[in-house]
Amino acid sequence: MTDDKDFKRLVRARMAETGLSYTQARAALSAGTPAGGGGGLPRDARIFVTGHRGLVGSALVRRLEALGHTRILTATRDQLDLRDQAAVNYWFRANRPDYVFLVAGKVGGIMANAARPAEFLYDNMLIHGTVVHASHEHGVSRLLYLGSSCVYPRQARQPITEDQLLAGPLEPTNEAYAIAKIAGIKLCQSYRSQYGDDFVAAMPTNLYGPNDNFDDVGGHLVPMLMRRFHEAKLAGASTVEVWGTGTPRRELLHVDDLASACLLLMAHDDPPDLVNVGTGVDHTVREVAEAVRDVVRPDATLTFDATKPDGTPRKVLDATRIQALGWHPTIDLPTGLRSTYDWYRAADRIRGHERATTAV
Ligand code: NDP
Repeated sequence: MTDDKDFKRLVRARMAETGLSYTQARAALSAGTPAGGGGGLPRDARIFVTGHRGLVGSALVRRLEALGHTRILTATRDQLDLRDQAAVNYWFRANRPDYVFLVAGKVGGIMANAARPAEFLYDNMLIHGTVVHASHEHGVSRLLYLGSSCVYPRQARQPITEDQLLAGPLEPTNEAYAIAKIAGIKLCQSYRSQYGDDFVAAMPTNLYGPNDNFDDVGGHLVPMLMRRFHEAKLAGASTVEVWGTGTPRRELLHVDDLASACLLLMAHDDPPDLVNVGTGVDHTVREVAEAVRDVVRPDATLTFDATKPDGTPRKVLDATRIQALGWHPTIDLPTGLRSTYDWYRAADRIRGHERATTAV
């Protein structure tokens, strides 16, 4: 197929953003997209992206904009607290979304989950409840809910298939968050079976990319590592400490690849009600730390603090279902880490931090 001028422009923009080749960037844009790159949803559909300033929400907005969507609906937390059912109902009445990406939530790494389980449970249960219910009341065409691979049992068979949901005890360090996420899945399935609502739940693996949270000391693996290596580089330090033993295995997916999977699920004729989104490939924490080191501070030495919790020993998703729909990840780990680090360095808060550190 010959690409039209608009699509070529999108591919080139994607190449500039990510450092991918033309073929890779074209594949990334086309994944989950019917020929021509239209996104599968009507360009003038009213699409509500909750949590649009976060890692996932911002990637969805970037992708929808790149595909030419003209009615992307967003609301900041100050404009609309998604825990407030009355406010959410009012917002749905006023804005009449056709499609809803339910990706807002309280999200954090092991330490944040361990320190604030009450908020992880309360906030997420309320956000899921209000948005799913309002989507039902207002008859949206489809809602895509994002769960997490944390919903699966700690000792799940690897790679983890969707049917292992509720097959055993959860990882204790993020149990509250996982229970809220499972309640969200069950809520979508219940509205689907009771009312025939077109609600679909996707379970992404660990994500990374632009707009990740680099500030939270208890944050996710990639931003936490990137920040540590970056600070070591600025301080001229030659050693970087990594939490835990380095032996647990983790699967990582670039958020732009997740965005293409979400678009596919939103546009597909008949998606499954529960579907994993992952690469099917995992790495030890040590390997991830070494890959980040190679991008940020190649001459640094790693040490491991085994007094910090490791979390689940291994977590890799079975991606057979989503792959059968035609989706495949296109951004490999070194490429994704390089473009994420470029974004991180360019971000205002880091420029401020670099200035402050240089001035000391
Ligand atoms: P972020 O923390 O980056 O973004 C969350 C967004 O939700 C923010 O924009 C935040 O608003 C918004 N939000 C939180 N509480 C409220 C509220 N009460 N009212 C309105 N908005 C609110 O999270 P991610 O993008 O990383 O995660 C998105 C989804 O993907 C979540 O459901 C998460 O569970 C899931 N997921 C994430 C993974 C990851 O590795 N990051 C892995 C697997 C699943 P504000 O900008 O004001 O803070």
